[in-house]
Amino acid sequence: MAVHLSSKGIRIGKGQSAIDAMKQIVPHWIHEKIEDPSYVGGFRYARNCKCSECGYESSFEKKSCPHCGVKMYQID
Ligand SMILES: [Zn+2]
Repeated sequence: MAVHLSSKGIRIGKGQSAIDAMKQIVPHWIHEKIEDPSYVGGFRYARNCKCSECGYESSFEKKSCPHCGVKMYQID
């Protein structure tokens, strides 16, 4: 993982993965889950995504948010 986060002081709670913890603090694109029984697990992720910082919706993941300009991290 290329993200350097030690300065942010991440706390990882019980039952929470490091990835979940990171997602709460680093800017990233949010893909909504859509229920879909034809997919394994019963859901799929929307192709559209939202900026975790300002809520701007994009049709695909860009390197940074065109609305608030935040640099996005690819977490998963
Ligand atoms: Zn944004």
